[in-house]
Amino acid sequence: MRNLNCGRRTVLGGLVFCATAGWRLGSSAAQPPGRGAPRPRRVPTVVIDPGHGGVDPGAISPSGIYEKDIALATAAEFARQPAVRRGFRVVLTRSTDEFLPLRERVARARAWKADLFLSIHADALPDAEMRGLSVFTQSAQASDREAATLAASENRADLVGGINLTRQPRDVGNILLDLTRRQTRNLSIALARRVVVELGRETVLLENPQRSADFAVLTALDVPSALVELGCLSNAAEERLLQQRAFQQKLARGLVRAVGSYFAAHGVG
Ligand SMILES: [Zn+2]
Repeated sequence: MRNLNCGRRTVLGGLVFCATAGWRLGSSAAQPPGRGAPRPRRVPTVVIDPGHGGVDPGAISPSGIYEKDIALATAAEFARQPAVRRGFRVVLTRSTDEFLPLRERVARARAWKADLFLSIHADALPDAEMRGLSVFTQSAQASDREAATLAASENRADLVGGINLTRQPRDVGNILLDLTRRQTRNLSIALARRVVVELGRETVLLENPQRSADFAVLTALDVPSALVELGCLSNAAEERLLQQRAFQQKLARGLVRAVGSYFAAHGVG
């Protein structure tokens, strides 16, 4: 396993886009402020996770287009959007065609102290007529199960919402865990809603576009997270669109607006 001990300022692996002036890795602006100095506004971190990669192509379209390539290209467009400079930095879980286990994607997001996590995918459905974008958040049952596993774990060394559960009496720890999980779930749903609203202006939405399911990549209990299916590679028209850079840029712009409006409404952690 890679070294995951990568704090906000020493990110190992992945691409870091320090999108805000004065927020450069290792720069003097990143040093703790002196006594009496005004506290700089915290810049939220958005982790964008291009799905699949390497030996895992994800869905494959009838003409042989790989989901992993669409996801990476669109994620890179997100990072390039000038609107990103308005207030958050973007880190990609992968910036090349590499295989990353799902749990490592989550671990990286938490190590980077993500304020939001967006996993980017493209669908393939049995009905080739179906098309449109959809957004998933973790189902309540899956979220309950994850919390129960953590609550029951032997060492409870995990940090949730900045609270070290090992330092809390077990009951208090469980209550904090539950509160964190509920809040994260509500914020994840709010994030998904923003994505549906903003992308609905730009592109076709699948029927019932806001959904929930059990995704291993959406298991961070303290990071609001959503998984976006950009469209259906199984639909001929959408297969063509998803390969076009202009369309990828349009999707990326919509996602940037969604993230911006999420932070405007809910603030940072
Ligand atoms: Zn996928």
